[in-house]
Amino acid sequence: MADCLFCRIVAGDIPATVVHQTARTLAFRDISPGAPTHVLIIPREHLTDAAAVAAADPTLLAELVTAGASVAAAEGIDASGYRLVFNTGPDSGQTVFHAHLHVLGGAQLGHFGQPGVRHGE
Ligand code: AMP
Ligand code: ZN
Repeated sequence: MADCLFCRIVAGDIPATVVHQTARTLAFRDISPGAPTHVLIIPREHLTDAAAVAAADPTLLAELVTAGASVAAAEGIDASGYRLVFNTGPDSGQTVFHAHLHVLGGAQLGHFGQPGVRHGE
């Protein structure tokens, strides 16, 4: 999709710091990291969110998780632990509607799931 930021990264039109890739996935550093390690794993194919990936091809969803584990090992955070997150929809804060798995680690992470302020309130 021409107007999709992550499709443009896949195409090489927008630069990214790529840390891992497979035939069907790409991993690059988040431009605004929320933890010492913050990498995004995406399918090269445009699919809007994790559920769409699972519906299109469950193996591809597993490949994203496996790539996340490989990145965690390469970053040296597999033993200390890490968090895998798929934001889905507005309340989650999803801003890019091309599925992406956040890999967060390298520090003790705060608790999650606390309610915040809804958009527009
Ligand atoms: P989400 O809020 O779950 O949709 O996550 C989108 C993520 O993409 C955010 O954490 C952004 O910091 C990140 N992001 C936005 N633009 C870029 C970019 N050009 N390169 C790398 N990460 C980006
Ligand atoms: Zn896309």
